[in-house]
Amino acid sequence: MTSTIDKSKPYFPLAGGANDGWSNEEEATATCFCGAVQLKFPTQGPGLLNSFICNCTDCHKITASMFASNFSIADSHLTHVRGQSNLSKFSQSKTIASGHTMTNYFCQTCGTLMYRVGTRWPGASVLRIGTVDDFHLHETKLKPKVEQFVEERVGWLRGAEGIEQVEGHYNF
Ligand SMILES: [Zn+2]
Ligand SMILES: [Zn+2]
Repeated sequence: MTSTIDKSKPYFPLAGGANDGWSNEEEATATCFCGAVQLKFPTQGPGLLNSFICNCTDCHKITASMFASNFSIADSHLTHVRGQSNLSKFSQSKTIASGHTMTNYFCQTCGTLMYRVGTRWPGASVLRIGTVDDFHLHETKLKPKVEQFVEERVGWLRGAEGIEQVEGHYNF
């Protein structure tokens, strides 16, 4: 694949309303599309728990796209820099096979889904790789390690190269 964009170093393209995202060796920010909500998280363990692609049917709906690219952060390591009171939440359990509840936290202003919290995984929040301001991290530290629910992947996309592919839930 050829590209004229150098993603081998920190890279902060114009992406939404905020321009104050940052990263360093240990931490980085994730910001919603309008800029009202910003999170800070660690880019390695123990705070960074995992990174994965999900093709499940819920992820089609909640991304308005075909899959979600996620990473999990221990709540003890997640900081709301701003906008926590500007988050709306929506919970449901109808589509969760285990019967657990997933709660989605959206920016009230622009609708960006910032993270999900599941009763199956207390103490962790599932953030979205696409909200991370340093796009270099999408390629490196936050690159997914697993792709799950591959049986639901739309036929015109191929799986991510070089990572484990699993049907249904990956057991993290
Ligand atoms: Zn927003
Ligand atoms: Zn999913």
